[in-house]
Amino acid sequence: MKNCAIVGINWGDEGKGRMVDLLTESFDVVVRYQGGGNAGHTVINEKGKFALHLLPSGIFRDGVLNILGNGVALDPENLWNEIQEVTRHGVSITSDNLKISERASLLMPWHRDQDGLEEQRLADKKYGSTKQGIAPFYSDKYQKKTVLVGELRDPEALKEHLLELMEWKNLTLTGVYGAEPYTEAMLQEWYQDYCVPILPFIADTGKILSDLQKQGKNILFEAQLGALRDLDYGIYPYTTSSNTLAAYAPIGSGLPSLKLDEVVGVVKAYSTCVGEGPFVGEMFGEEADKLREAGFEYGAKTGRPRRVGPLDLVGTRYGVNVQAATKIALTKLDVLSYMKQIPVCTHYRVHGEITDRFPFPQDLNAAEPVITYLEGWNCDISGIREWRDLPDAARRYVMFIEHAIGCPISYVSVGPERDSIILR
Ligand code: GDP
Repeated sequence: MKNCAIVGINWGDEGKGRMVDLLTESFDVVVRYQGGGNAGHTVINEKGKFALHLLPSGIFRDGVLNILGNGVALDPENLWNEIQEVTRHGVSITSDNLKISERASLLMPWHRDQDGLEEQRLADKKYGSTKQGIAPFYSDKYQKKTVLVGELRDPEALKEHLLELMEWKNLTLTGVYGAEPYTEAMLQEWYQDYCVPILPFIADTGKILSDLQKQGKNILFEAQLGALRDLDYGIYPYTTSSNTLAAYAPIGSGLPSLKLDEVVGVVKAYSTCVGEGPFVGEMFGEEADKLREAGFEYGAKTGRPRRVGPLDLVGTRYGVNVQAATKIALTKLDVLSYMKQIPVCTHYRVHGEITDRFPFPQDLNAAEPVITYLEGWNCDISGIREWRDLPDAARRYVMFIEHAIGCPISYVSVGPERDSIILR
């Protein structure tokens, strides 16, 4: 696997972090290419349990270079806090193992404010934003109203640029939302506290990546969120504001000429979804509570209880397709061990018609799940490491999914720890 992307196939929280953590063993470089600190990867290894928001998951492996690419929403405040937090647990983070693209745009404190103010204004029509400023950030980036990370190296020119943007942003904050304006002193403090500390990490990461590629190094591209949250291909407008698809990895990482050799799609053995938006097959009541508890389905960033449901094969097939996945990692199979019969959503019924096609986003509200039940295995599988040792019913469940989505399931994860994995 020379160049490989690890991506989410569904709504996110599929367990990508643990897969990247596992696979970094065979990669020299790990690159984050989109999104910001709005989601969290949970990684459990010998150094502890970590909720990573911005740092690439390769940060725990000695000798792995971690890159935050130009497509990332680079929030210096979140990043610096996260670096300090992870460092406190004995993980070494230096300019040797972490580089930030000089071409990434800076997520400003006002983006977080604007995000919160807009959600407040929307009240019961809100999108379920994590209020990390991601939507205002990407809007501003496309309006060319952001500062590039590389500009931090020239404080004088930066000041001028920031004051221009501040004047513009204050119009929205005060005029539209009636909020307090930003001042030069606030920006000065922000620069000193959070930007100065990250200066040593800034680099021309495009050049670094291209040199490493020429040297034959293995590069892993790490996505945040899943296919159904992709801005262009997901359940718009309940998507994130960036492209979560593997196809964006070359653009967002700094290697636009890149051709991916492998795309590992991560699928959870059941469905979860955080926040608002259509979620066909959603479980409610006691059935949902049981699954949520069994899988400990609470947001890594927000602590919000996740909505849960049976594995959605319609959404998963679509996700596999748009991600162009070449292999699947199926995670959290152990969580289903308590079920006597396991529900799986095989089709949708939309306006009376049964379909296996993922519908146009607005038609999702009319979609109802068509459920099939598969036999459960009712025993603890978390200690199993070999495919042949899994109970027959568990293997049948995996093969049923594999057949339905048309992509080989190469990894089956049966626990959150690094070694709780079955390779097929
Ligand atoms: P990500 O954003 O896709 O990395 O997903 P999250 O980190 O938000 O959610 C995955 C959660 O499931 C984390 O708490 C992981 O430690 C946990 N996890 C991952 N794989 C497994 C597994 O196979 N079994 C169990 N029980 N937990 C897992």
